[in-house]
Amino acid sequence: MAPHVLDLLAGVGVTGLVDDRVPVGRLRLGRGGLTAERRTARPSWVVPRRILDARLVDAAVAAGARLLRHRVRGLRQHAGAVVLDDEIPAAVVVGADGAHSAVRRALGRPRGPAALALRGYAPVAPGRRGAQVIEFGTRHQPSYAWSFDCGDGRANVGYGETLREGRPAPNRARLLERLDALLPGAAEGGEDWVGHHLPLSTARWRPPAGRVLLAGDAAGLVNPLSGEGIHYAVATGIAAGRAAAAALREGRPERAGERYARATRRILLPHLRHTALAARLARSPRAVGAALRASAADQRVFDDFVELGLARGRLTPAVVLGLGRALVAPARPSRPTP
Ligand SMILES: Cc1cc2nc3c(=O)[nH]c(=O)nc-3n(C[C@H](O)[C@H](O)[C@H](O)COP(=O)(O)OP(=O)(O)OC[C@H]3O[C@@H](n4cnc5c(N)ncnc54)[C@H](O)[C@@H]3O)c2cc1C
Repeated sequence: MAPHVLDLLAGVGVTGLVDDRVPVGRLRLGRGGLTAERRTARPSWVVPRRILDARLVDAAVAAGARLLRHRVRGLRQHAGAVVLDDEIPAAVVVGADGAHSAVRRALGRPRGPAALALRGYAPVAPGRRGAQVIEFGTRHQPSYAWSFDCGDGRANVGYGETLREGRPAPNRARLLERLDALLPGAAEGGEDWVGHHLPLSTARWRPPAGRVLLAGDAAGLVNPLSGEGIHYAVATGIAAGRAAAAALREGRPERAGERYARATRRILLPHLRHTALAARLARSPRAVGAALRASAADQRVFDDFVELGLARGRLTPAVVLGLGRALVAPARPSRPTP
């Protein structure tokens, strides 16, 4: 989880969520022998979703939310309200129901491009302790295997790749095989394997208007370069809640979508355009190699790349210059940097 998520949550009064977790301040990026390893500008947090989500629910309930457990199958919109499954009326609905969102389907919005990833928990390998390790794949770009030290002797390990129309999706055995090929031994002793889709964002992202809002994966908001989605989910969840509350205060719940679109366009659109372009570039092994060499050579380029993959970053002048220089320079294997 990116540190920016904690900033967003602190902004709505939720603090202390990861006080008992160990932060991870090193990131190693690699591909086929090229490596860029550095300290990150701020540490990230590796926390099982089971823990994080339960804490978020507790915080929401403590702040006055009423928790009702119900699997939504569909919704109908009348002139004055939205009704979920013919039984739960609402003035405004925020569909934050993930990659296979029933709310998105009910709005008739198609799913966009996607990736598929498998993750498990395994004993952390000695050479990968205290770090987030990412090894980019050699096919089906962007793709990568990862090992993220949880700080308790285990690592969150996995592999994910972009899906393409007309190409069969990889099965579990294939995903595990790719993980082992890219990070040998990472899956050894692994358990609790779970596979899931990641709906990738595009430069053309547009939220729906009206009383039904979509946030996070339901809105197709996963970084196409890194697979990061928690920051977007929290950012758009907060924006959706605020838009709904403001529209209700104004007595115009049907305007919630409009308010939400205005707020999210401002915080997201330029970033989404830049990540879409970067993800296209990342299909080229030459560009990935250049990005690694540029990141190994310059902390600023490294930091800007991390920001692009984690939260609200852009293709900054430092990144563009660094990439350009690395592309014209003769290729040399890089070494881990301090
Ligand atoms: C293997 C893997 C690893 C990942 N690693 C990272 C990472 O390291 N960092 C990162 O930032 N992102 C990561 N992501 C992406 C991240 O998990 C998602 O972007 C993020 O979880 C999106 O949050 P969300 O709340 O929108 O959706 P979800 O986390 O999927 O939550 C959706 C919720 O809605 C509920 N729900 C679903 N359908 C219904 C229904 N019909 N009715 C009622 N409730 C429903 C679900 O039970 C769930 O609680 C990873 C994804 C995968 C697949």
